[in-house]
Amino acid sequence: MRRVSIFGATGSIGQNTIDLIARAPQDYQVVALTGAGNISQLAEDARRLKAEIAVTAHEGRLENLRAALDGSGVAVAAGTAAIAEAATRPADWVMSAIVGAAGLAPGIAALEQGATLALANKESLVCAGALMLATARTHKARILPVDSEHSAVFQALVGEDMDAIERIIITASGGAFRDWPVEKLATATLKEASSHPNWDMGQRITIDSASMFNKAMELIETKEFFGVKPAQIEAVIHPESMIHALVGFRDGALMAHVGPPDMRHAIGYALHWPDRRHLPVERLDLAAIGQLSFRAPCETRWPALRLAREVMEAGGLSGAVFNAAKETALDAFIAGEIGFTQMSEVVEAVLDTLSAAPGHIDAKMTLDNVAKTDHLAREAARSVINRRAG
Ligand code: NDP
Ligand code: MG
Repeated sequence: MRRVSIFGATGSIGQNTIDLIARAPQDYQVVALTGAGNISQLAEDARRLKAEIAVTAHEGRLENLRAALDGSGVAVAAGTAAIAEAATRPADWVMSAIVGAAGLAPGIAALEQGATLALANKESLVCAGALMLATARTHKARILPVDSEHSAVFQALVGEDMDAIERIIITASGGAFRDWPVEKLATATLKEASSHPNWDMGQRITIDSASMFNKAMELIETKEFFGVKPAQIEAVIHPESMIHALVGFRDGALMAHVGPPDMRHAIGYALHWPDRRHLPVERLDLAAIGQLSFRAPCETRWPALRLAREVMEAGGLSGAVFNAAKETALDAFIAGEIGFTQMSEVVEAVLDTLSAAPGHIDAKMTLDNVAKTDHLAREAARSVINRRAG
């Protein structure tokens, strides 16, 4: 039996992971399941999967969780420290699917105990890629990418020499507004930004897909995880979301990964790696699909892509600044404080301010310094937002 933990179990990735694990309960001992606000889902899954412990990020919800799991034998805990502590419980395989920078500390803790980390939380790599990789190396732990594009690249690289890579092409659906006139974007509402043409995902990543901040994060994630140069990474708009990524080799060959837009493929690949096992995903009928299309991304429509290039070039802690400013701007858009196109303006202003001041993005990459930089960037973003809203 493999010991598995799922961080962010109540979310979109977490629930897809549980769907796969619950199909073969005899193969898994569930160690920890974590959530935040959705106590009923967390308790239901913890009971059903006989988890050792269920943890909510919200300390105020501990009594609700305790009541919901009364008599089940599942231990309960609450708070950010309790989530990181749960990641130190011995496990063979850990799904990192908390949304946001909050996923970093439990991911590091799981690597420190030598677990295989299935990484959906792209923010960990954006904020602290070098630290994640160094921690994995030191503790002989493995990181397996779960973001669909990075899983696709990882699969295209099986048996290949890393030196033979010429370029990596990440596809983007273009999100909710790919066909909107650029002038109309400033008026986009929360409801309009929260629906994705192809993927069913959590609200935050769905909005990030419309603004292309999600793709921007994925470009940075590619650089950090695969260790390629920024100039070797490209993005292309591919509205059908069937090809997830392509790897170009020095002999001119392009290896593409093709599959339905269903995260259970990437999750299942990481769960069974290095084996390939049967997965309950749709088999594509290429003749019925007929054609796939591609177009170049426009940086006027999606300034996040330009900002990602700047972050990749700057390196250091600029990813932590970028992510924290983006998360704060996204909160402000969700709260109705700023408009859709102002999100990238806020991130750009914060990057400009903190990159100019010494001691921020060039500080040593430790968990503490990432947290400090994250905090500073959130404060800087709040002051830009307050100025614009005021
Ligand atoms: P969701 O919003 O659906 O789920 C987020 C999860 O994190 C929930 O379990 C939520 O708990 C929990 N959570 C929220 N805030 C905190 C916090 N402060 N501390 C601890 N836990 C918290 O997100 P997704 O599943 O869509 O995304 C998860 C991660 O995977 C993100 O990093 C995303 O970028 C990445 N990803 C997602 C894809 C997708 O298809 N959804 C594709 C590729 C990557 P609760 O719901 O109980 O409040
Ligand atoms: Mg992705």
